Amino acid sequence: MSPEELWSPSSWKSKPIAQDVEYQDPVHLSKVLSKLETLPPLVTPSEIERLRHQLALVQRNEAFLLHAGDCAESFDACTHENISAKIGLILSFSLILVWGVRLPVVRIGRIAGQYAKPRSSKTEKIGDREVLSFRGDNVNGDVSLRFVCSVPRLDPNDRTPDPERLLSAYFHSSTTLNHVRSLLTSGFASLHHPRDWSLSHVRSPSLRKEFEKIVESLSDALDFSRTIGLESGPAFEQGGGRSTVGEVDFYTSHEGLMLEYEQALTRAMPIPAAAHADKAFYNTSAHFLWIGDRTRQLTGAHVEYFRGIRNPIGIKVGPSMVGEELVRLLDIVNPSKEAGRVTLITRYGAGKIRDYLAAHIKAVQKSGHPVIWMCDPMHGNTLTSSTGLKTRNFGTIISELTWCLKIHAECASRLGGVSLEFTGELNDDGFSVTECLGGSMELSEEQLPLRYQSFCDPRLNFEQSLDVAFLISNYFKL
Ligand code: PEP
Ligand code: MN
Repeated sequence: MSPEELWSPSSWKSKPIAQDVEYQDPVHLSKVLSKLETLPPLVTPSEIERLRHQLALVQRNEAFLLHAGDCAESFDACTHENISAKIGLILSFSLILVWGVRLPVVRIGRIAGQYAKPRSSKTEKIGDREVLSFRGDNVNGDVSLRFVCSVPRLDPNDRTPDPERLLSAYFHSSTTLNHVRSLLTSGFASLHHPRDWSLSHVRSPSLRKEFEKIVESLSDALDFSRTIGLESGPAFEQGGGRSTVGEVDFYTSHEGLMLEYEQALTRAMPIPAAAHADKAFYNTSAHFLWIGDRTRQLTGAHVEYFRGIRNPIGIKVGPSMVGEELVRLLDIVNPSKEAGRVTLITRYGAGKIRDYLAAHIKAVQKSGHPVIWMCDPMHGNTLTSSTGLKTRNFGTIISELTWCLKIHAECASRLGGVSLEFTGELNDDGFSVTECLGGSMELSEEQLPLRYQSFCDPRLNFEQSLDVAFLISNYFKL
């Protein structure tokens, strides 16, 4: 029997499960999973097929990919303000990219399901106590991360994995997605009103000016296109569905870490427009899922699960990946070498990218595997500030991104996209978060605690994100 025939939505269970969560009450867990299995899909096969088609265009250098959002979403952050700020920033960022790269931009948010987090250690120290690590809102609670008068509050029961949280994750994902869909179909994404995407708080006059220049030129171009009846591009429209200037495509994604949850949302459904009503297994919890750097073992549970779903997938590639292992991984998850199926998300760190990326590109080129190369300049560049806050330096992020562009050019390859942790979130006084150092706003180490709101990795704020967008845009414009 070929390995393909042995796959099923639960075949991952016979493999070693990295980052496994141990539930104390298996009966409760299976009750929750049975309920999840009966709930409706969050996304549809036709949307997933449309993304596959658009990612194939990215792979052929006919579009650019933007993957962005929070490191981890929290149930508490499921509010109109947070969701619209995130979508607004993704739209502003992609507008700047469209302008410079001169290609359509495929937008995938780390949103509507990005709850689970891998951790390097099973336990962590809170004050003088050793407790189970926080694994994301869909697993256990983060109360200890909220400090009252500098003393961490901790309810010990909060760290016990609770199956009900998986159900809560489904409903928070569905609420988030519902709000994203309503924003995008109610004119929020209209290129005719880009100033609605909350640019008002950007304090840097030069950044505002640059953005407004783009908006003005784009409005002129749109007026012209409308006048001559050419509002949208035909190649991007194939693959089913609709997309207009006022209703942009937007896709959801998360790390496929909690395989019990992913399995419960995996459904055998007809492939739209396929001959003979062929069916495939779609993960209906998100359009795009990725395998994290800690769970990509060739013989592990995650790779086993991922090889059987039809969704386009991402694979994080860090310094511990050797070239031959990368090609074997591609052979497993994309044996028929389909374009648009795999995006490699490289995250080495600015100090290491020169030691690894070229070898990885060459190994993949030699194998003949079609992939999208995407740069994640965040995850190899995390550091701890002198005051103990997890942060990232804007300059280091830019350095990894710049080296990435350069190395691809030297290897006759091309960077197809960028993966960022950013947020358009503002605090109550209308200020951006202060989690990463530097950028055009020159955020200093002393300013970090002012509005540090991430409960996972540090994110670029609105201004710092636009700085990155202009950098990429200007690179491709040259
Ligand atoms: C992430 O993307 O938030 C993450 C944990 O990344 P990685 O698996 O690359 O460390
Ligand atoms: Mn992260």
